[in-house]
Amino acid sequence: MINIDYSCSRCGVSYVLFKKDVLCPNCKKESDLESHEHFKFIPTTIKNMKTNKRKHGKYSHDAQKIESLVDQIQKVCFNVFDNMENTNPDNPKEYIKYLTNKIHWHGTPYLKIHTREILTDLYDAYRKNPPRHSLFSKTKFLFS
Ligand SMILES: [Zn+2]
Repeated sequence: MINIDYSCSRCGVSYVLFKKDVLCPNCKKESDLESHEHFKFIPTTIKNMKTNKRKHGKYSHDAQKIESLVDQIQKVCFNVFDNMENTNPDNPKEYIKYLTNKIHWHGTPYLKIHTREILTDLYDAYRKNPPRHSLFSKTKFLFS
């Protein structure tokens, strides 16, 4: 998988370079990478979401392997999207905020805002290119 965790060279925390110019969510340092190879998190996650939905009827996948922070954040994204489809909130971005506030971030509070930013970008990207599969026709918010 192209999306490996990135470790900040100043403070050492792991985070996801989900697009260009993502700063360390803990100390705000820029990444040392110039390559774009780490910026495929959003399209890869959307691809996985579509596959999971087609195969399992939902975005989350109970047997998903969690081997990295990328996997962990993807899992949160899947669960949030499942939750949003079930509740169909009026304001999805406020709802993302609400849900990420409810999650327990254990020793990594900086991941709350980081994951919220990822979810917001993921939501925008997903809306632009919704799946054509019929299983999705029930979901209003993704198409509105
Ligand atoms: Zn840092």
